[in-house]
Amino acid sequence: METTTQHNIADLLKTHFGYDKFLPNQEEIINNILDQKDTIAIMPTGGGKSLCFQLPALALDGTAIVISPLIALMKDQVDALKANGISATFFNSSQPYEEQQQVLKELQNGNLKLLYVAPESLPQLNFILNSIKINLFAIDEAHCISSWGHDFRPAYTQLKSLKEQFPTVPLIALTATADRATREDIAAQLSIPNAKTFIASFDRPNLYLDVRPGQNRNKQILDFLKIHRDECGIIYCLSRKSTEKLAATLSSKGYKAEAYHAGLTSEERTQIQENFINDVSPIIVATIAFGMGIDKSNVRWVIHYNMPKNIDGYYQEIGRSGRDGLPAHTILFYSFADVIMLRKFAEGTETEAYQLAKLERMQQFAEALSCRRKALLGYFGEHITEDCGNCDICKTPPKYFDGTLIAQKVCSAVTRLQEQEAMGMVLDVLRGAQNAQVFDKGYQNLKTFGAAKDISWRDLQQYVIQLLNQGVLQIYFHENGRLLLTPFAKMVLFEGKTVRLANIIQEVEKVKTERAPRKRADLFDKLKTLRLKLAQEIGMPAYIVFSDAALEDMEH
Ligand code: ADP
Ligand code: MG
Repeated sequence: METTTQHNIADLLKTHFGYDKFLPNQEEIINNILDQKDTIAIMPTGGGKSLCFQLPALALDGTAIVISPLIALMKDQVDALKANGISATFFNSSQPYEEQQQVLKELQNGNLKLLYVAPESLPQLNFILNSIKINLFAIDEAHCISSWGHDFRPAYTQLKSLKEQFPTVPLIALTATADRATREDIAAQLSIPNAKTFIASFDRPNLYLDVRPGQNRNKQILDFLKIHRDECGIIYCLSRKSTEKLAATLSSKGYKAEAYHAGLTSEERTQIQENFINDVSPIIVATIAFGMGIDKSNVRWVIHYNMPKNIDGYYQEIGRSGRDGLPAHTILFYSFADVIMLRKFAEGTETEAYQLAKLERMQQFAEALSCRRKALLGYFGEHITEDCGNCDICKTPPKYFDGTLIAQKVCSAVTRLQEQEAMGMVLDVLRGAQNAQVFDKGYQNLKTFGAAKDISWRDLQQYVIQLLNQGVLQIYFHENGRLLLTPFAKMVLFEGKTVRLANIIQEVEKVKTERAPRKRADLFDKLKTLRLKLAQEIGMPAYIVFSDAALEDMEH
């Protein structure tokens, strides 16, 4: 076994990568690998995951095999390594036969420190892998192994056999998708039950988190841009058409904005990206197709014109701002019309229930009545004790009351249900609901049955959502969204931690009285004009029948 001292890895960091310091968790992860132990590394995008396997590959004898899902990613990383004088290459189906043979030869000769392989191509290497010295297997983007995950790749399931075939070679799985269920799935699928898990902080304290109702978004955006003139930013929209419309609107007001979506040719896209990176056109109005691999440090703001389909996406997208660590502003426009549209996208897909549960969680985040950052980080399993002071809620908090007793009741119900039940059942039990599902499972005999029967179902549901947003509870997304306790819950139950809850009725009333009447009047005017126009065009009276969702859509 190698004995590499702390001193050595710091040297390697400096000489091969040119860095003076490790990023959070890198050193611990690298040492764990050097101790020949299996590792799961959860770090946000940009957190420096690659170095966690690249450096041990250099420190240890032999070759590291890196499994990576995207050919483009492989190529970028290999180019970067080569530029640093490290012998690395990749093996995948995009290469011509001769090139593949060349790679196999290099591998056999033991000349490579790192070989990047697509999971589909791994079987082709099998006969060589058995005859060379492998120092490490690194599974990048390891969430792709989870069939629950958003990026499932069937070929990743073949990686199951790696640990059986090479029991003594340490294995590291890396991902930025950290929910607890995915983490557990990764360990199970890769047969590394004893892997040590390292979770880096997902906190980006310099990002101001702002969520606003989606009324008059265009006006809100123009007002925002007046204050943020000359800054670079990204606006994310759901549809290609809306990116083009909004980009045109902004251009007509004198802003340099370009639309970006998957419907453009790859030349057009490259050009737009370059214009953005070089500050030629500082505003990009894009679908989520934009951003992967964009490493621009001075993006000062990100706006979600439409609500993203889950918190994972939201986090990734806002994370593209403020990479330089300087303050950046993020705005999420929230409208129920978006929720409905996103629901439609999810319906009928193979992972419908999972996607809908994640969408619901996104919506709950948007409706949060407590610190956004707590809610955001709690989603990733990270629990901060203090409110952040850098989000819209912290800036203007609602009125809170002492909700400790309610929180205790909810937490003890979740405990007694052994963290096996989703929110609906937890509510039923707390309210003492006399229904078949409750009786079938004998829950009427639980001590917490009916413990909160004095609170209405809707209020109690709101409180539970607030507890989710405050990181006291968590959802296990892979199995019908059962509720889990977090370390905070234990503090609430046993250590006298107090919980503040907002009085939702008051807040809802406030929203209704402050916002609704004006909005309705505005909409009505617009509809009237629309109806007249239509009548003119078709030459007969026209009537417009609209749903609530249509009403919401109409305003933009
Ligand atoms: P991830 O895969 O976690 O998204 P990367 O491995 O691509 O992140 O690294 C993100 C960026 O951070 C890269 O530009 C990388 O060179 C840089 N980086 C990695 N480690 C360090 C370090 N110790 N000090 C400074 N920069 C680092
Ligand atoms: Mg990476």
